[in-house]
Order: sequence, then C-alpha cells, then structure tokens
Amino acid sequence: MRRLLFTFVLGLSVMSLFAQKTYLHCGQLIDVKQLQVLKQKTVVIEGNKIVDIIDGYAKAGASDKTIDLKSSTVMPGLMDMHVHIESETSPSHYLDEFTMNTSDAALAAVPIANTTLMAGFTSVRDMGGSGANISLRKAIQKGYVVGPRIYTAGKAIATTGGHADPTSGYREDLMGDPGPKEGVINGVADAYKAVRQRYKEGSDVIKITATGGVLSMSANGQNSQFTEEEVRAIVAAAKDYGFKVAAHSHGAEGMKRAIKAGVNSIEHGTLMDDEVYPLMKQYGTYLVPTIIAGRSSMDSAKIPGYFPPMVAKKALEIGPKSQKNFARAYKEGVKIAFGTDAGVYQHGKNWLEFKYMEEAGMPVIEAIQSATWSAADLMGTQAILGSIEKNKLADIIAVPGDPTKNVDFMGQVNFVMKDGVIYKSVVK
Ligand SMILES: [Zn+2]
Repeated sequence: MRRLLFTFVLGLSVMSLFAQKTYLHCGQLIDVKQLQVLKQKTVVIEGNKIVDIIDGYAKAGASDKTIDLKSSTVMPGLMDMHVHIESETSPSHYLDEFTMNTSDAALAAVPIANTTLMAGFTSVRDMGGSGANISLRKAIQKGYVVGPRIYTAGKAIATTGGHADPTSGYREDLMGDPGPKEGVINGVADAYKAVRQRYKEGSDVIKITATGGVLSMSANGQNSQFTEEEVRAIVAAAKDYGFKVAAHSHGAEGMKRAIKAGVNSIEHGTLMDDEVYPLMKQYGTYLVPTIIAGRSSMDSAKIPGYFPPMVAKKALEIGPKSQKNFARAYKEGVKIAFGTDAGVYQHGKNWLEFKYMEEAGMPVIEAIQSATWSAADLMGTQAILGSIEKNKLADIIAVPGDPTKNVDFMGQVNFVMKDGVIYKSVVK
C-alpha cells in the first residue's frame, strides 16, 4: 500500500513537472532532411521531447511558456564530430602533459564544455584525450556540469610511435613501452584488447590514428601506421561492442587501408588521391573535414616558438591542404559529417567551419545538414537526434537571422535548448 501511494505521488509530481509545455514561435525553421527553410512554425516541447510542429504561431495554454523566435532561424542542435573537449591549444601544451593531473584536465574542461554548448553545439564526438573526457561526460549527464552530449573515444588507439602513442617524443627513460591498455597496439590480439579496454573504461566510440599527424612529436605527418589487418581487427572488435570506428588520417595509403577495413569515418582526410574519393563512396565512409584545424594550426606555426620546430614544419605543409581536399571530396559526392578538431584551435569558434565549407563550395544549408542529420547518421543516433521532428529529443538552437543568406549568423547563436532545458535565450 505504501508503495502504491508512493507510486501515485511520484506519478502526480512527474505529471505536474511535465504539464508545462514550451512553444517556440519560429520565424524560420530549417528542415535539415529536405534542405528547406520553412516559415512561421511553432515547435512544441514537453519534458525533453518535441511533441508537435504546427503551421503558424500556435497559442499556448495558460500554464505553458512561449518563446518568441519570430525574427530568428531555428534548427536542430549542432553536432561537432571531432573535438578534444579536455584541452585547448597553447604554447605550453607539450609541457602540460608532465605537469597536469587527469583531475586538472577534467576541471579545465568544465568551462570548455560550457563554451561549446553556448556556441550551439548540443552534441560532440570527443576524439581522444587522457580519460578526463569520460568523467566529463558522466558529470554532464548527472547535471554537475553544463555541456553538450558527449560521445567520447576515451583514449585514441595508435601503434608504437604512432600519432596517439602517449609517450611519442619523450626522452628514452620516460618512453616506456605503452600497450593496449594505454591505447597502443601491434598486431591483431592487441587490437582486440585495446577495444575491449575502451569498453571497460566506458568509451562510446573508437578512434584510431591510421596515419601520422601534425601535432604529435614525430617526424612524419602522413605515413601509414596500421596494417590493414590491424584495422580489420579493430573494426571487428568494435562491432562486438557496438562501437563505430573513426580513423584519423592525412596520407592516402593509410586512408585506403582504413576504408577497406570498414571504418565509419575518415577524420581530416587531408591528402586524398584520385582513388580515395570513389573508394569512400563505394564503402559509404564519411569524411569529417576539420578545415579550421588545418588553417589554425598553420597560423599558430607562423608564431615563433608556438610549436616545436618538428611540429611547425608539418603544420605548414599539411594545414593549407585540408580546405582544397574538402572542396574536391564534396564535388565528388563523398558523404560529409561536420567536424572541427576543436581544441586544436580555441573552443567556441567551431562555427567558422561553416564559413570555410561555404568558401569551398558547399551551400550553408548543406553544411548545416552535415552538422545535424548527417552527423546523427554517422553516430547512429538519427532515431532520437539530428532533426526537429515529433518524438525526438528537444535539442534545438536558433540564430538571429538567415544563415543561408549570411553564414556569419552561425556565430551568433541566441537560443540553446538541450534535452528540453533552455541553457541560453537572448531573445525578447
Ligand atoms: Zn583531433
């Protein structure tokens, strides 16, 4: 009986909590599936879900809330498929790993998570860090910290001396010999163990560094660093645990191996050759372009002393090529999911990627689709996120003008709702 009464009281309080609906009066509403800008719509939210979309400006009930977005453009919450949520570029970056504890990184990530959400990014895929990323995801889920939905790789997986080998560039007595537990594999058995370790630690997605990279302390920024057999083992193990696999790659050979082995996305993809584009189309592999990362690391490399000379050289060589490659990949019809490598540049400026995508020939509305509907496809979350439709989670943002006519509006987000909760509203 007591239990029945408790259930009844709980039921009542839940009902009263959800009785209030929120009506968003949207001057413009972007349909990211049909690539259309709709006029004068009302989106109704109850609890954490979108419950209705009505033509015109529907009148709310007495206990409901109405938000006037009549002079704004409303769209699904943006999704950045490549961020590093627990760090941000600085000249001291290479020293930080010797002086910062994981807890220091976790606390430093708190304002980063907030900045990212306020910039309109309600979901991000974190592509690797020290492990603070997993704790941050939990803290956001529990409501301790304000931030986006985080889907994190935890630690990225490399081979010995590879881009994500955590001790690359250290002096010999500090190098040690990191293994699958630390995210370093050599061979098939290690590949399985590294993926299983990520599962144990609570990762959401697997990230491998299929080729060399720009910011690591190693000579080559584009060489192949996995055998095809090793990537196949990673992909097979990942499937067992329901993980998707993202492959960082700059050089073409490493990309081809990764694509053929069945990874879901190529991250950066800077130096694609003629064979890569049709291969990606054949396998349905996404490109996550990160143009802004190429451009900003090139800019940082021009500041004397910002990067070690080895890194500066790679940044100047590889950085300028990412936008050109994106232009070609888009033209060739490769699937694109929006991603920026935030952390390699200052968090919160993620929107600049829209500008660079437009510059390279992609209409802004398609770039918005790549950051919503296509991103949700890459993450496997289209059933609950990525568009404004009935029964989907209420992740919704707005900008104070028409971004399809002026992309700069993407940098002026004036309304952010995540999971039905309003985090930012600078409208009247
Ligand atoms: Zn990255």
